[in-house]
Amino acid sequence: MLLLTSVVWLLALCTVSLGIGCPSIVSRSKWGGWPPKNRVPLRTPVRYVILHHTARNRCFTLASCSRLVRRIQNYHMDKRGWSDIGYNFLIGEDGRVYKGRGWSTRGAHAKNWNRKSLGISFIGNFSRIVPSAAALNAARRLIQCAVSRGFLSRSYTLKGHRNVNPTSCPGDSLYRVISQWPRFKA
Ligand SMILES: [Zn+2]
Repeated sequence: MLLLTSVVWLLALCTVSLGIGCPSIVSRSKWGGWPPKNRVPLRTPVRYVILHHTARNRCFTLASCSRLVRRIQNYHMDKRGWSDIGYNFLIGEDGRVYKGRGWSTRGAHAKNWNRKSLGISFIGNFSRIVPSAAALNAARRLIQCAVSRGFLSRSYTLKGHRNVNPTSCPGDSLYRVISQWPRFKA
């Protein structure tokens, strides 16, 4: 019993020190979001993760990423007429995860795929450059977190937006990176 307890403690310690598990997520109130006008539940666990880029400015701090997330939400709600920011989550090059619609609300990010996927978007244009290591790590941890928390099937498939809709998203450089990730399938 003592041995078992020690092993459990050791595992817990390793988990904390290696940073395995769910990343902390910047709440909507923290980044200054509007509440959604409406929400449709997402039936989880979903089978797909679809990765995007926002195709515009990059950001490296909580303040500047929050400003860009607010700008994207305004664009999606005012110009596109959507009920909320389209993505489930966004990733800044500060290595933070920003909550969009979250785990259990259907997104508006990939036509015909929203009801069966989580949409995660890297903030920036990654056609010619790759996101920071901090951003890439945050995305991978978020995907693992989705599996461990039961929002994403264990046998999930990872895709880029271009694999499901006619778009260059998530940019050539980022696409090359994610196509090497576990469970990717074009
Ligand atoms: Zn996209």
